[in-house]
Amino acid sequence: TERPIRRALISVSDKSGLEPFAKFLSSQGVEILSTGGSAEALRKAGIAVIDVSAHTGFPEIMDGRVKTLHPKIHGGLLSRRDLATHVEAQQTHGIGDIDLLVSNLYPFEATVAAGKPWEDCIENIDIGGPALIRAAAKNHDFVTIVVDPADYAVVIEEMTAHRGATTLATRRRLARQAYARTAAYDAAIARWMAEQAGEKFPPRISFAGTRSQVLRYGENPHQEAAVYLTGERRPGIALGKQLQGKELSYNNFNDADAAFELVAEFDEGAAIAVIKHANPCGVATGSDLRSAYLRALACDPVSAFGGIIAANRRLDGAVAEEIAKIFSEVIIAPGFTPEALAVLGAKKNLRLVETGGMPAPATAGLTVRSIAGALLVQTNDAKKTGAGNLKVVTKRAPSEQEIADLLFAFKVAKHAKSNAIVYAKNGATVGVGAGQMSRVDSSRIAAWKAAEAAKTAGDAETWAKGSVVASDAFFPFADGLLAAAEAGATAVIQPGGSMRDDEVIKAADEAGLAMVFTGIRHFRH
Ligand code: 5GP
Repeated sequence: TERPIRRALISVSDKSGLEPFAKFLSSQGVEILSTGGSAEALRKAGIAVIDVSAHTGFPEIMDGRVKTLHPKIHGGLLSRRDLATHVEAQQTHGIGDIDLLVSNLYPFEATVAAGKPWEDCIENIDIGGPALIRAAAKNHDFVTIVVDPADYAVVIEEMTAHRGATTLATRRRLARQAYARTAAYDAAIARWMAEQAGEKFPPRISFAGTRSQVLRYGENPHQEAAVYLTGERRPGIALGKQLQGKELSYNNFNDADAAFELVAEFDEGAAIAVIKHANPCGVATGSDLRSAYLRALACDPVSAFGGIIAANRRLDGAVAEEIAKIFSEVIIAPGFTPEALAVLGAKKNLRLVETGGMPAPATAGLTVRSIAGALLVQTNDAKKTGAGNLKVVTKRAPSEQEIADLLFAFKVAKHAKSNAIVYAKNGATVGVGAGQMSRVDSSRIAAWKAAEAAKTAGDAETWAKGSVVASDAFFPFADGLLAAAEAGATAVIQPGGSMRDDEVIKAADEAGLAMVFTGIRHFRH
């Protein structure tokens, strides 16, 4: 049978939920030892506590750097109650059992996130806390360790049901959690120090994050999945707040991320992206979200069904009315107006995610993907192309309107899977070809989509007519470019840099196209 908890040590920075828990412990006759700030808070609440310094006979020193680092504390946590030699050592040195440790750490991560200076971050590295936690967790055969206030209720429940004791199964689970916490804590410190030193790729990566959510399943129902936060504080699907709808799925996370990162490219005016399988079905900018949405939708209304919609500003009632007309999986936006929430609230399953802000696309960060046996890590594709980066290579220079559309199309191409070809007109996509194994196939698909969009809208002429074309990487041959010219495009944007650039430029001149090179490639696989 389990031994009841008789003595607890409480040393917490996060004091939420502490008072009722400590009151419960007191009511069970548990003696409470506590460190400076925690003891003060408990006494204020009228709970009897013994100072750790009184228990050890050694004061807290060095501004709290040394509080609990004492054999009377660590011996009390680490002693195996079933080993004669351990019990003997306790008797010889006057070390009493500590059966429960309630501890959480100095808020190091929050201090870093608040942008505090180096010294503050260093001072917020907890030393005694992790030592206590690791000791208690190691000796979980006898000691209960609680690092998360959410688990206070579990301990209360068990102690109530088991005459003041906890079960081994629970102590094991709590111990796992404890080590996960100290590991994540040290990882956060290592990561911050690497960042401070400007080191992007330290020999060991310490950004494998904390689990925020277990998902119902992965990319397919037979796969298991979870979300881990890396600690990067970029507004988006992972850190967003879900306001309504079904639980987000693995694919929802992936697609919503693609959608939101895409609209983040557009900081002037309203922008909407409709995404399916991480590729854009349609993207448009406009003076307001409603007009942007209608034009994004018109690009490929068939594929947009069941899509993910992202907006780059607070979603309003007018666009919500339009969105509500078809089935979508997720809407992600920096915010939602009360009118929008009223309209979309009727669609109970529709997931709404509020991010609270937009990420700056040029912010440095890392992207990670896994291959068998390794993680591939790279800096994110933070390159922006502006009018000043364009080099006109054809006899005809693009008009101002063409330049605006070329830059728009190139931004969309950056967020479409390679090979990516994007037709655009007046700040809206009219045909997208993505994820094909050859660029000419993507060109053909994009042209075909532009013709389909026109048909659906009841227009006689393909929407490729008078459009511009973007390619995420250079045209290796003239064929892809000629397919665009044939479809009716008037201008082309591409990185350039092919061995056959001359041939491609000549073909563009012969077709009367204006073409610009960016010198920047945007592969996305
Ligand atoms: P309190 O607010 O009770 O004074 O301090 C609680 C915090 O101190 C907890 O976050 C705990 O992890 C931390 N702590 C406990 N013992 C020590 C120690 O010996 N050294 C340091 N640096 N922190 C400690």
